[in-house]
Amino acid sequence: EEESGKVVDYVVKVVLVGDSAVGKSQLLKRFALNEFSPDSRATIGVEFQTRTFIVDGKTVKAQIWDTAGQERYRAVTNAYYRCALGALLVYDITREHTFENLSKWLDELRLHADANIVVMLVGNKCDLNNIRAIPTEYAKTYAENEGLFFLETSALDATNVENAFSTILIEIYRRMC
Ligand code: GDP
Ligand code: MG
Repeated sequence: EEESGKVVDYVVKVVLVGDSAVGKSQLLKRFALNEFSPDSRATIGVEFQTRTFIVDGKTVKAQIWDTAGQERYRAVTNAYYRCALGALLVYDITREHTFENLSKWLDELRLHADANIVVMLVGNKCDLNNIRAIPTEYAKTYAENEGLFFLETSALDATNVENAFSTILIEIYRRMC
């Protein structure tokens, strides 16, 4: 496969999951384009974005999939999860029910995705610390118990967005080799 003239050694699919309006599309936009749209009621009109990395001299193309709003109708299809090696499981630190629904999303992942999928729990909107509903320690313990990586992010001010995606991609790469 070719990417701007370079041979791509690996294509890695990562999916975004979590309730509506937790910031999945904005996290992807921040990661892929370094942009943020303050009023993004409409989702980005694409299925996925890609970014290419060099790891250990290998060219790795990350293909990050967005639900494109399907989660609103509980209509995320099996095809969405198929062959995904990583997932960002996103909740909104200011809205408790988005955290309570995590177990539902984990069930979905465990049912439809690869058993060895690398999952990063992401508490998004950490810029809204003043109206936080979910304490960091609480989420951290949940992640430890479920065997997930964990970070709090802000798509708005870019806190930890690069870190969340790169941690998952490096772990996927490590497990492949
Ligand atoms: P999705 O439904 O999970 O894809 O959520 P969106 O990415 O469409 O974001 C939903 C809303 O939350 C939009 O109004 C975004 O502007 C806002 N939003 C997303 N990320 C952040 C963030 O990190 N901080 C703040 N304050 N707002 C955010
Ligand atoms: Mg969206």
